[in-house]
Amino acid sequence: MPELPEVETVRRTLAGLIVGRTIERVSVHLPRIIQRPDDVRVFEMQLAGRKIEDVGRRGKFLLIRMDNLVLVSHLRMEGRYGLYQSGDPVEKHIHVIFHFTDGMELRYKDVRQFGTMHLFAPGQELISKPLAKLGLEPLDESFTYEAFCHVIAGRTTKIKPALLNQEYIVGLGNIYVDEALFRAGIYPQSQANHLSTEQLRRLYEAILATLSEAVLAGGSSIKSYVNGQGEMGMFQHSLNVYGRQGQPCPACGQPIEKITLAGRGTHYCPECQPAGME
Ligand SMILES: [Zn+2]
Repeated sequence: MPELPEVETVRRTLAGLIVGRTIERVSVHLPRIIQRPDDVRVFEMQLAGRKIEDVGRRGKFLLIRMDNLVLVSHLRMEGRYGLYQSGDPVEKHIHVIFHFTDGMELRYKDVRQFGTMHLFAPGQELISKPLAKLGLEPLDESFTYEAFCHVIAGRTTKIKPALLNQEYIVGLGNIYVDEALFRAGIYPQSQANHLSTEQLRRLYEAILATLSEAVLAGGSSIKSYVNGQGEMGMFQHSLNVYGRQGQPCPACGQPIEKITLAGRGTHYCPECQPAGME
């Protein structure tokens, strides 16, 4: 599943492809992708004639803003967008096609069919499902150390599940939580409310550094995605612990360990992230 840095990379790329284009009509081939409105024909009618003004993001949701309408799109496991000319052959698993007035088409492909689209009047998207209860946006300037402590510091849960909770902070998935905890030198099973001020500060800085580096890395390997070819998968990041169980820690050489925590595979270095705060 794409995590926040991948979705941010998709957002930037998609904005470059579709902002300024006007939708002539939309055809939906798999109605269950469309979650709102209930009637797919209404979805298609509402989008016809709209000009795309901006592509935003909230957590892992893309917000395609048009004149007086917002399309909220979640790629889930394997959803992806590609820009094509109208005559290009339509591949399998293309479920929604946005036909533009200039002869180009934005096609939504989703082999697993878990992706979703919701339409809202502007402003309504932020107070309605699925965006209403989302937490802090870690790449936004509103994500200050104080705001981070406000949602995390007093929790009586373990730190890793607290960081994964989308109602506290959005977009942090399994990979980046493991990487941020390693960078901060914090044992994943530590109780959130037992972390020292210094540990909280290190963790905050580690989240920012891990995500911003991943966004930069994501920007370099987006071309295959844009053309609708190749698989939507992890971009090339240098991972220190995730998926490296049994291999030497890049900092101290001890083997990386893997445990299951809150149902998720969790990777850490027992030397650099010592237990004792749980
Ligand atoms: Zn280590």
